[in-house]
Amino acid sequence: MGPSILEIDLAALAHNYHYLRSKISSETMLLGVVKANGYGSEAISIAKKLDALGVDYLGVAYTHEGVFLRKQGIKTPILVLHPQPEEFKHIIEHCLEPSLYSNRTLQMFMEATEKEYQYPIHLNINTGLNRLGFPVHGLEAISQNLLNSPRVKVKGIMSHLAATDDLSEKAYTDSQIEKFKEAVASIEEKIGKVPLKHLLNSSGILNFPEAAFNMVRSGIALYGYGNHSKIDSLLKPVATLTTKISQIHSIEKGSWVGYNKGFVAAKKMRIATLTIGHADGISRVYGQGKGVVFVNEKPCPIIGNVCMDMLMIDLGNHEAKEGDSAVIFGKGASAETFAHGAKTISYELLTGIGARVKRVIVS
Ligand SMILES: *Cc1c(COP(=O)(O)O)cnc(C)c1O
Repeated sequence: MGPSILEIDLAALAHNYHYLRSKISSETMLLGVVKANGYGSEAISIAKKLDALGVDYLGVAYTHEGVFLRKQGIKTPILVLHPQPEEFKHIIEHCLEPSLYSNRTLQMFMEATEKEYQYPIHLNINTGLNRLGFPVHGLEAISQNLLNSPRVKVKGIMSHLAATDDLSEKAYTDSQIEKFKEAVASIEEKIGKVPLKHLLNSSGILNFPEAAFNMVRSGIALYGYGNHSKIDSLLKPVATLTTKISQIHSIEKGSWVGYNKGFVAAKKMRIATLTIGHADGISRVYGQGKGVVFVNEKPCPIIGNVCMDMLMIDLGNHEAKEGDSAVIFGKGASAETFAHGAKTISYELLTGIGARVKRVIVS
């Protein structure tokens, strides 16, 4: 086991799951997003726990992530948010549900369903994120095309909102919700009732509950972050990243620390070397004091440039000895706060934790 550990707390996941459930009606289904190895944690344990908790759906970004879940025995419906045509045969082989987002992907998926009858698909509508999705205009022709094909069946209509975490952009979100309603009406008028409509991500569930339709898709909030400090305080971080102090130095004024004179001591000081670096996902942007880690619960800024396998911190006068643990983020040290120091977000920090960091599941 390497010296850096990402502890995955399944009890925290259960807490967040129940919190989210309490925010939606009992008729609304919950899709748990486990893409990017469960937001950088460990997708299988997360998926199995969500399954045990009664999640209705799981969501992944790419096909191979869904195939991996199936190979590990996950039987829950799995939505693939961004499938590629060359993988469509794997989607069908592993009973995954594709979110199709263009005429090209719809056409190619229909061609891939050689023997299938009414294979479940979801249509992704572009309501203003301008990332993926069918344009709202022109849906009638698509619906007609679908009506004539016995091979696929529209099980869901979805879209994705651009700024559910930003209430100053509420007007834009409201306009996206309106466009989604129009799209649903236009499709259903042509092909009849579609079982699932889903629009909201985590912040959407918390800030726009009126647009929950009958399914919501939550990722980040399940992992303990809600894009707002008030919400973060109600959730529990699932992942805690700890590393170790391997050496402590007392250095004189004028001493350099790390490569390229990344830090020069302005006074006599105590510094510590930690067993984690940019190869583990603690990017160089966290150097130069941008990232602050915790040793025995005391904040210690990262000094100099982050190295590949190590980084150095200013210990100040805090009590610490070689072999002690340092917490990068997690329990008692918000990943959102750590990420914010380097002008990024918890999503990026969490999903970037390297494969060298050992995942340890606790519950
Ligand atoms: C990643 C993703 C989600 C989950 O978003 P969170 O903000 O993590 O809750 C939902 N829907 C789509 C389409 C996504 O890509």
